[in-house]
Amino acid sequence: MSDKKIAVFPGSFDPITKGHESIVHRCLTLFDEIVIGIGYNSNKHYYFSQERREIFIKKTFQGEDKVRVERYSGLTVEFCKQIGAQYILRGLRTSADYEFERAIAQMNRALVPEIDTIFVVADPALSHISSTIVRDILLYQGDMSKFVPSSVTP
Ligand code: ADP
Repeated sequence: MSDKKIAVFPGSFDPITKGHESIVHRCLTLFDEIVIGIGYNSNKHYYFSQERREIFIKKTFQGEDKVRVERYSGLTVEFCKQIGAQYILRGLRTSADYEFERAIAQMNRALVPEIDTIFVVADPALSHISSTIVRDILLYQGDMSKFVPSSVTP
């Protein structure tokens, strides 16, 4: 593994929201590099294509040298190993998030003990934001601009 402290922030980012953006910004001082990993799950139906989700994220973090965007499929821990990342970054909004994330983090640690999951508690002003609700707003042509970075367009 590399000497650099590398964290993977995995997710669907369908689309990236101000909640995701905030987690990355708050963690920039903790790591040498944050790789935003757009995961692919064949059982999931996505609203935005992987290409567009990637473009939205790249534009959001344009000029931020420590942030990289990559797409991956398969297990997150395998992706971490491939790129030499020692940490997985996840945001927690609710206790339901915590229960769900705890099990995944413990499973991941059982699979690859060298990789730890770091949880960051959501900013209370942003904890109501979810990609799911943004997609609902889009479906009914509502205004999503309060919830997503300006790089995200219908
Ligand atoms: P997934 O499909 O893996 O749930 P998401 O794209 O929905 O991926 O979310 C990626 C990560 O961002 C998750 O850890 C999620 O808890 C976190 N997250 C999502 N919305 C927010 C928010 N408003 N504030 C903080 N963290 C968030």
